[in-house]
Amino acid sequence: MKPLFVTLPPGTRFDLKAIDPGATGPFSHKDEAREVTERNLARLAELQERLYASASHALLVVLQAMDTGGKDGTIEHVLGAFSPQGVQVTPFKVPTEEELAHDFLWRVHRAVPRRGMVGIFNRSHYEDVVVVRVKGLVGETTWKARWEHINAFEKLLVEEGVVVVKFFLHISPQEQAERLRARQQDPTKRWKFNPGDLEDRARWGDYLAAWEDALSRCNTPWAPWFVVPADHKWFRNVAVSQALLTVLEGLDLRYPPGVPGAESLPIPPVRW
Ligand code: ADP
Repeated sequence: MKPLFVTLPPGTRFDLKAIDPGATGPFSHKDEAREVTERNLARLAELQERLYASASHALLVVLQAMDTGGKDGTIEHVLGAFSPQGVQVTPFKVPTEEELAHDFLWRVHRAVPRRGMVGIFNRSHYEDVVVVRVKGLVGETTWKARWEHINAFEKLLVEEGVVVVKFFLHISPQEQAERLRARQQDPTKRWKFNPGDLEDRARWGDYLAAWEDALSRCNTPWAPWFVVPADHKWFRNVAVSQALLTVLEGLDLRYPPGVPGAESLPIPPVRW
């Protein structure tokens, strides 16, 4: 069966140009994927309830992409399957003065979910090895040292019960142009149009190179990267849901046993 996403053994280099952003895995049409997506989302909701109830692990989902890559849509259409009570979404924007006065992981560590919860990072600490590199915001020695800092940080999280799943939503420059045009023209999307995105688009090659390094250097056995072809939103949704399901099914999440003898306690009648 054709794969839904690309994972690589640690130490192997990601070649993003060799991964087709328009791929649709085993599906030739969106209707073929609908049922699988729906089934996956229902199962994800069940597993999240177990995660919440057992509080043995936390799940941290890292979402990264080029601009317009579909992070928001993934949160809405895939992660929206989870109960809001157990989810916490954190967007990472240009750092504030206070954030910049600390080490780059300071704001990130504070946003890591507690056990039982799902944390979603809309952008993440990977901005600190990608955008800062492309825009020259920190020196080369600094961003290069950060790959190892990130690996050590993620290892700490995983050893403390946080399951780290990282997605790179991979779109083509053609698809980005379409989406930017839609944002310009559609009054319901215009609020998302940021002229700064055009400057970033002009440096597509630099971003791609920085991403290839980040994905390759920080693809560890404890926190692997999933590269998801994302030109087709319906395919992205089925692929992300499948990847999450694989990870969560592997955890053997169980409901806690509850209070001993609970099942035989009589429920007293109430007069009202
Ligand atoms: P989004 O595009 O995620 O919907 P915004 O339009 O507010 O949200 O963009 C957030 C911006 O913040 C992006 O341009 C991103 O590169 C930038 N950013 C995030 N983290 C950092 C960082 N650590 N250093 C510099 N810029 C950052």
